Amino acid sequence: MKEMFKINQFNLMASEMIAFNRTLPDVRLEGCKNKLYPDDLPRTSVVIVFHNEAWSTLLRTVRSVIDRSPKSLLEEVVLVDDASERDFLKRPLEQYVRRMEIPVRVVRMEQRSGLIRARLKGASLSTGQVITFLDAHCECTIGWLEPLLARIKLDRKTVVCPIIDVISDDTFEYMAGSDMTYGGFNWKLNFRWYPVPQREMDRRKGDRTLPVRTPTMAGGLFSIDRDYFQEIGTYDAGMDIWGGENLEISFRIWQCGGTLEIVTCSHVGHVFRKATPYTFPGGTGQIINKNNRRLAEVWMDQFKNFFYIISPGVTKVDYGDITSRSSLRQKLQCKPFSWYLENVYPDSQIPRHYYSLGEIRNVETNQCLDNMARKENEKVGIFNCHGMGGNQVFSYTANKEIRTDDLCLDVSKLNGPVMMLKCHHLKGNQLWDYDPMVCLFLCLLFDSGLFLCLLSL
Ligand code: UDP
Ligand code: MN
Repeated sequence: MKEMFKINQFNLMASEMIAFNRTLPDVRLEGCKNKLYPDDLPRTSVVIVFHNEAWSTLLRTVRSVIDRSPKSLLEEVVLVDDASERDFLKRPLEQYVRRMEIPVRVVRMEQRSGLIRARLKGASLSTGQVITFLDAHCECTIGWLEPLLARIKLDRKTVVCPIIDVISDDTFEYMAGSDMTYGGFNWKLNFRWYPVPQREMDRRKGDRTLPVRTPTMAGGLFSIDRDYFQEIGTYDAGMDIWGGENLEISFRIWQCGGTLEIVTCSHVGHVFRKATPYTFPGGTGQIINKNNRRLAEVWMDQFKNFFYIISPGVTKVDYGDITSRSSLRQKLQCKPFSWYLENVYPDSQIPRHYYSLGEIRNVETNQCLDNMARKENEKVGIFNCHGMGGNQVFSYTANKEIRTDDLCLDVSKLNGPVMMLKCHHLKGNQLWDYDPMVCLFLCLLFDSGLFLCLLSL
């Protein structure tokens, strides 16, 4: 089992013991189970790209798509092989899928191209009115498709994601994902799940079966109207292998007049892995940084500085030519990133308004506040200033918080310690005052009128 785990970075032995058409629990909210959808929903092509995927996970994905989609709504399945190096994915795969009751096509990339260009190829060869992208290790559950297509029928500029359930990489157990989390990102431009904020619950009047407006998508699983996909500029074909494309399309959808939703009545499972099994030709960091620079340069305006200041090294990475993507933004008259932060993602880790961004230095000792790579609920630290960004970057925001990425400095006891907690935006223990005349330090004012000053700790 341990040996086989390395091949795909999931328990391949377990996967091979499980039927392609295994039964899955119906994890939907009760209110989703009897919803009715129009008869004339648009049909979808399902595009699945893969590089060296396992036979069992790939075919279980295809099987679950065919078995759990109404035949009338499924145009075809397009499998795009991104130059895999496994014999069983060549002729045996073509022969196997030929027998399926829905057209399943296998197309090949001539050379390793990465998931972005592989998806573009699949999209261009497919024919359905809607394109649904899935990873090659997914399982669709009952009723997954209708609620996605219904949203697109209502508004073709709505791009929709299912709730992504978790298929254990260890046991292949199927576990329901939460309808109470949505997509965000941190200063390093990593995609992250965060709790759905109260404002979004209020907008839906507490009805959890209604779609959640999400600032970003995870990336692997979504449906989009074919013409709208074209109109907003598909993907950035200058991005390689993996990474960044999900934030790029998310920013683009919102800034250019579309809507991005998680449809909470649609559940699709995905095997989340802790490591990537495949190579990144040219180096993992290089490629991801290049992709991230492309999206930061085109879409984030001055807010790209949060990314650059926390990772100063990335400014050395060449990001190629972005003129066609910048002119796309011009042509579509897309809104600025500040609009996105204000209107789509006000609870963002990147503050819309802030006084400063950088290190907090004690000039006497040349020591800097440092999050020491510690996690939530741990103490903030102090370390020699290194000027390399990373753990020593803080922002003093207009709300008077001191943030380090997605955590805020927080004090609940008069004598400290200063902890790093989730930002709650409620001031209180996270409100810091800067008074250059009196204090020289950032201080927290207690209700009792006492101060606690940061660098004097
Ligand atoms: N993929 C690909 N070419 C690549 C890298 C990835 O076709 O160079 C495929 C991969 O097989 C998978 C999808 O893209 O079906 C997403 O990749 P992965 O599952 O590794 O991403 P994650 O889900 O971990 O974000
Ligand atoms: Mn995946």
